[in-house]
Amino acid sequence: MRSILDLQVEDKHEARYLRGYPLISRDAVQHPDQLTEEGSIIQLFSSKGKFLGKGYYGEQNKGIGWILTDKQNEKIDQLLFSRKLKTAFEKRSSLFADPETDAFRIFNGEGDGIGGLIIDYYGGYLVIQWYSAGMYSFKREIISALSEQLEFRGLYEKKRFDTKGTYMEDNDFVSGEEAPSPLVVKEKGIRYAVHLNDGAMVGIFLDQRNVREAVRHVYAEPDSRVLNTFSYTGAFSVAAALAGAHTTSVDLAKRSRPKTREQFEVNGLDPDQHDIVVMDVFDYFKYAMRKNLLFDMVILDPPSFARSKKRTFSTAKDYPALLEDAIAITKKGGIIIASTNNASFSMDKFKTFIADGCQRAGSTYAIRSQYGLPEDFTTNKSFKEGNYLKVVIIEKQS
Ligand code: SAH
Repeated sequence: MRSILDLQVEDKHEARYLRGYPLISRDAVQHPDQLTEEGSIIQLFSSKGKFLGKGYYGEQNKGIGWILTDKQNEKIDQLLFSRKLKTAFEKRSSLFADPETDAFRIFNGEGDGIGGLIIDYYGGYLVIQWYSAGMYSFKREIISALSEQLEFRGLYEKKRFDTKGTYMEDNDFVSGEEAPSPLVVKEKGIRYAVHLNDGAMVGIFLDQRNVREAVRHVYAEPDSRVLNTFSYTGAFSVAAALAGAHTTSVDLAKRSRPKTREQFEVNGLDPDQHDIVVMDVFDYFKYAMRKNLLFDMVILDPPSFARSKKRTFSTAKDYPALLEDAIAITKKGGIIIASTNNASFSMDKFKTFIADGCQRAGSTYAIRSQYGLPEDFTTNKSFKEGNYLKVVIIEKQS
């Protein structure tokens, strides 16, 4: 039996729980130190004894647990998980039915009512991400519920909660059939190689699906030159190359070269016709300026925070500088895809970074379009931090 602990919410936090805020934060409750056993049940009450929500204890960097139900008499068991999974899968019925797409998110944490649990679908295989030991303690119930609600070939898991905050597992396979490596999945007709048993990241970030499609069908032109920075496995490069562009992919990590070549190959594109550069993006900008290289499109999709030998980079601080460099090597009339997954600032703030970067570069620009998370990355209206993706498509005018 799981223990149940009643916690009192500080008065100043009561209103947001009444509005459906799902995260239990340490500073919102009295005596959080009573919580010792991950996975135990938490019931939140106001100082006047009003029931505010029921959830579980699980330490994450964001908080100490998540509310799963606003009904005091509802049990947190397989039935509850089964119901939430079913609703989530019904919401994605058009993706399940899309013959051109078989890689997408089928369960998005608090956006689908279970903070700490993410499930992605890759060509019939599932990858579960557990964000705390508390969430992981429900593994048996969740996998049983999953098997009730969906047919799948094999199951993988990523534990995102080990003590050092880094990823340490060497085998992520859980059950069913093992996936080939690479497993080739489809996204709106583009093919991507993924490796389900190869660490925390499988080779593609599913949240950029609509942006990759726009790169391929709207913004990249035949014989144009596209620079993809922070390119990882070159997913954006492939989208541009399928439109007939010549691409240059730049990433600091050595593994990016074979992984990017693989993405070209599974799409029937010759990787030797494209440039893959293992280099710090900021050094590449200097090199490109020295050589007077100019691009028709520059893609900027950095991690929120990165540390290399030479410098640390944070989007919250360095985006204007990044954009200034990118603009300097973009042709007049060219496109910059400016993306960030940093949840700590809003779209409006991001646009001030863009304005700042363009001003520093002495350029004028127009916003052609903007994107947020795709439909399968469901968010909770009361939890705006969950709505992290911001992509602005900019045209350099002068
Ligand atoms: N844009 C990619 C995802 C980027 S993940 C996509 O759409 O798939 C972040 C990548 O940035 C990682 O591959 C990491 O190696 C790379 N990176 C981090 N700091 C860097 C730097 N200073 N220069 C070049 N690459 C960097």
